[in-house]
Amino acid sequence: MAERYDCIIIGGGPAGLGASLYASRDRFRTLILEKFYPGGQINTTDRIENYPAFDNISGPDLIEKMVHQVTQFGTEIKTSAEVTALKRLDDGNIQVLTEEETFTARAAILAPGSTYRKLGVPGEEKFRRAGTGVSYCGTCDAPFFKDRRVVTVGGGNTAVEDTLHLTKFAREVILVHRRQEFRASRVLVEELMAKVNESGSNLKLRLDSVVTAIQGEGKVERTIVKNVKTGQETAIDCDGVFVFVGMVPNTDFVKGFVDLSEHGYMKCDPAYLRTKVPGVFVAGDCRVGAAMQLVTAVADGVNAVMWMKQYFRDPNWWNEGIKDELAPGGW
Ligand SMILES: Cc1cc2nc3c(=O)[nH]c(=O)nc-3n(C[C@H](O)[C@H](O)[C@H](O)COP(=O)(O)OP(=O)(O)OC[C@H]3O[C@@H](n4cnc5c(N)ncnc54)[C@H](O)[C@@H]3O)c2cc1C
Repeated sequence: MAERYDCIIIGGGPAGLGASLYASRDRFRTLILEKFYPGGQINTTDRIENYPAFDNISGPDLIEKMVHQVTQFGTEIKTSAEVTALKRLDDGNIQVLTEEETFTARAAILAPGSTYRKLGVPGEEKFRRAGTGVSYCGTCDAPFFKDRRVVTVGGGNTAVEDTLHLTKFAREVILVHRRQEFRASRVLVEELMAKVNESGSNLKLRLDSVVTAIQGEGKVERTIVKNVKTGQETAIDCDGVFVFVGMVPNTDFVKGFVDLSEHGYMKCDPAYLRTKVPGVFVAGDCRVGAAMQLVTAVADGVNAVMWMKQYFRDPNWWNEGIKDELAPGGW
């Protein structure tokens, strides 16, 4: 007999922990199923400066506090529990399956996050793990590279936007892109080129080029860049490398259960975070339109629970459109 909860949250990252705080504090029997251990992506950084109330805190320290808080309110967390499938039962409950166990709940919140796509070159993993110069988030880490020289990699919207953002901090930014043309929107490319062409600009381009290695002693000191047309390799001295080559949402296990976008993000309505399956909500970096930030992931989790309460009050609300006024109320 499968154990029954009010709310099962898939993923113990910031979105899942944010959701569990509100669900368990509201006395709903709440379970987090986490593939590895709680924390998600933020566990891999030792400096967060943009989470309210903390001047600077490491990912693991913040997660420890979050886990302490949610378990005090009764959240149960199962680690090493990868969810492999979900099903909506005839009685309206949601069945959640891992390799070993089956659970049911009145509602589920999908919060499996995303993973930064890697370059897969020597040095990338070593310097990422140690927090010594490889980053995937300009918004998060640009201030740590004030007056430094950095290389950025990519040609899409995030690459261009975050490269421009970095020019406000770094002494010099060199954008490496494998083609001549950018995939980013035209307005962003115009902005990029205007910046490159400013007199005395601190932004340079290396087009038709790819990064083949990141090197240094204890920290990033140089990047090896290869011109894909000539095959020639050169070294660029730098203090950091920002990789902006896309994100991969962790959504394979819900293919066919909820709707996914072309790039695999879960579709939901923007106001209430409802998927097409009654009782199943989405939160955090895995959803279409996510801001890919810690604070917005936590907020998504909270929102999903507020709307879960509305669903519990009135299951027929699921099929209603977005209303001008509908306050879930209560804290
Ligand atoms: C190095 C780094 C530094 C960052 N720095 C900052 C920063 O300074 N400020 C900021 O605002 N943001 C930062 N971010 C971004 C921030 O970490 C993310 O926006 C946030 O973690 C998203 O939270 P999430 O819960 O949606 O997803 P995740 O953090 O991705 O968590 C998802 C969780 O779900 C689990 N999971 C996945 N699939 C399954 C499954 N099938 N079954 C069970 N569990 C599953 C995963 O193991 C993971 O623990 C940083 C990210 C990285 C990688």
